[in-house]
Amino acid sequence: MNTARKTTLAALAAHGRFDLAVIGGGATGCGVALDAAARGFSVVLLEAEDYSQGTSSRATKLVHGGVRYLAQGNVKLVREALHERTTLLANAPHLAQPMAFVMPAYRWWEAPFYGTGLKMYDALAGSHGLGPTEFLSAARTRELLPTVQMRGLAGGVKYWDGQFDDARVALALVRTAVARGALALNHCPVTALVREGGKVTGVVARDAIGGAELRIAASCVVNATGVWVDDIRDMDREPDAPKKPGLVAPSQGVHLVVERSFMPGTHALLVPKTRDGRVLFAVPWMGKTILGTTDTPREDIVREPAPFHEEVEFILSEAGRYLSMTPTRADVRSVWVGLRPLVRHGGEDGENTKAISREHTVLVGRSGLVTVTGGKWTTYRAMAEDVLEHCFDRRLLARRAGGVTVHLPLVGAPKKASVSMTAAPGEHLYGEEAGMLRELPGADRWLWRDGPSGQGGGLSEAMVRFAVRHEMAMTVEDVLARRSRLLFLDAAEAQRQAGAVAAILADELGSGFDTAASQASFEKLAAQYRHAP
Ligand SMILES: Cc1cc2nc3c(=O)[nH]c(=O)nc-3n(C[C@H](O)[C@H](O)[C@H](O)COP(=O)(O)OP(=O)(O)OC[C@H]3O[C@@H](n4cnc5c(N)ncnc54)[C@H](O)[C@@H]3O)c2cc1C
Repeated sequence: MNTARKTTLAALAAHGRFDLAVIGGGATGCGVALDAAARGFSVVLLEAEDYSQGTSSRATKLVHGGVRYLAQGNVKLVREALHERTTLLANAPHLAQPMAFVMPAYRWWEAPFYGTGLKMYDALAGSHGLGPTEFLSAARTRELLPTVQMRGLAGGVKYWDGQFDDARVALALVRTAVARGALALNHCPVTALVREGGKVTGVVARDAIGGAELRIAASCVVNATGVWVDDIRDMDREPDAPKKPGLVAPSQGVHLVVERSFMPGTHALLVPKTRDGRVLFAVPWMGKTILGTTDTPREDIVREPAPFHEEVEFILSEAGRYLSMTPTRADVRSVWVGLRPLVRHGGEDGENTKAISREHTVLVGRSGLVTVTGGKWTTYRAMAEDVLEHCFDRRLLARRAGGVTVHLPLVGAPKKASVSMTAAPGEHLYGEEAGMLRELPGADRWLWRDGPSGQGGGLSEAMVRFAVRHEMAMTVEDVLARRSRLLFLDAAEAQRQAGAVAAILADELGSGFDTAASQASFEKLAAQYRHAP
């Protein structure tokens, strides 16, 4: 076990009652932990697997106001998201940046129709706008999207949103919370709630690395477990009480990653209406192109949902309609699937069902358990403020002024980004911490380098050591899926690197680390990400 984890466990054991215990280390839980820590509350965050291992590492990587919600007339939601977009871009410029999108138009009415909507998007953004919406000629559309399907192209519209590295932002949120005094543990599932006199007064968790059971007292417990919130809600009932109706109706979204040659350039492509009425994106990200996504209802909630054949087929064929080269299954470098925690309304069992927006829901049970789910990555900060408001309203915490995270740079944030998020991954993703990275052994020993010339970014030995020493990585998967994003960019390459990464982890973590098991488990996972059914 590494020193930082030992120190955290010792601090946890020595700590009395926490103000707040947060269950779940995705965007929502990390955001709540940071907001509370920044307001001076004592906070513990417990994540069952790894930070962002659930839905929060599987987003389309867009920091966006949600053009789609504007079409639905949800102006309040769009305005809030546009505001939050600016906040995230300002607080983590090494990990979240503006991105220009181009919507190619093939029918005469498309550019004026969508362009007018996007002008409204600009107007709603006001001073938070990232650049003006522009109408494009067919020739200019082609310049910006060199591989766009030219047959029948009438023109296009260009507008601005943002993109980010979701897993590294989640990590930066946790690390910023820790810098403000929070204690955080990954690989530490909550297994039960402590209840006294009908009230939730803490949690029981299992340290999956060391094996110990932890009993933690807290004045307020927040259930931020995404699609798993109903499992925790189920722990919050009297022994003989019936099971509560489920709050979450999961819907799965698939992404395919293909080489950059399918869409060179730095502009993303938006298809506003696919054949079945959805939105589809092709986004340049970290040296590759992300294609997605789908929206398929799913009853079972699994850790690593597999894509359905029809979903892969749909994405490939839709991409083929808009790109001059149709990608095939053989071109797919990685497939990842995320589950959206969509909220079922009604049947909330007498709990306070004050849904603040259509996007996310906060419930406070009679026991005082606070549950938050839904929403989107972009609005995690506003959601965190809303969660704390509920805690104050129910007197679970003494009120303290909000707004403290609006201008709070995340760990490593430079003043300005030096390299685009569309470039291959590299030292630039460490922002101000790149110097610390370079001081570690193996800074010039590259396990993998992107690009045919090997001159792009990549993964160095020092990055693996940094992941353990400073970023709480405990397994090969933690490193190759979320500290580095290699699993998401090129699953076969990630699989090839598993052995080398496992050996460095063994060196860093010492005798308690099961090298063979960690490597084997990652190789199995990578095999799933390689396979587009
Ligand atoms: C396909 C797809 C694309 C998306 N694209 C975008 C996008 O481009 N932009 C955007 O803004 N939003 C996007 N979203 C939405 C966004 O990703 C989600 O709203 C957000 O990640 C949800 O975060 P969360 O923290 O609520 O859930 P999660 O990230 O799932 O976090 C919940 C955490 O709780 C942990 N947990 C579960 N049980 C326990 C337990 N017993 N003890 C401790 N921990 C536990 C899990 O391990 C998990 O890490 C997308 C969503 C999907 C599905």
